[in-house]
Amino acid sequence: MKIDSLETLFVEELRDVYNAEGQLTKALPKMAKKATSEELRSAFEEHLEQTREHIERLEQVFETVGKPAKGKTCEAMKGLVEEGSSMMKEDMDDNVMDAALIAIGQKVEHYEIATYGTLRTWAEILGQDEAVDLLQQTLDEEKETDDRLTELAESTINAEATAGEE
Ligand code: FE
Ligand code: FE
Repeated sequence: MKIDSLETLFVEELRDVYNAEGQLTKALPKMAKKATSEELRSAFEEHLEQTREHIERLEQVFETVGKPAKGKTCEAMKGLVEEGSSMMKEDMDDNVMDAALIAIGQKVEHYEIATYGTLRTWAEILGQDEAVDLLQQTLDEEKETDDRLTELAESTINAEATAGEE
């Protein structure tokens, strides 16, 4: 299929991120389960709820452009999730594992921030005002989650992780 316009590319990218969010609804519960810090666990659990809303918002965006909500395997997210799950299989102390989980989470959030930022800009160019609003809301939540993970990395978790074995 030829991607003959920015609008077609926009829809292709929507399909990519729609699939990526779906992959995350499966990965986040595993990450929450693996976390030792209560705060980290609730950060992942709350972001899982937000992720479900991101999926609903994407369905609304598909509607505004008159296309069916359909995903297309996001290879990048697949790679991030695979890398994350092999990291989670490593033998680590609890605090070090929490630091690793934050790293996985932040890589995912940064990927989403890049994607939603691009989509929001394209929606602006295309004059899709409703889509701009919806994409901006999700972009803001991804950024908030990333900031929250940075705060968690800076607070107790990594400080304890650096202590290491006696
Ligand atoms: Fe998301
Ligand atoms: Fe996210």
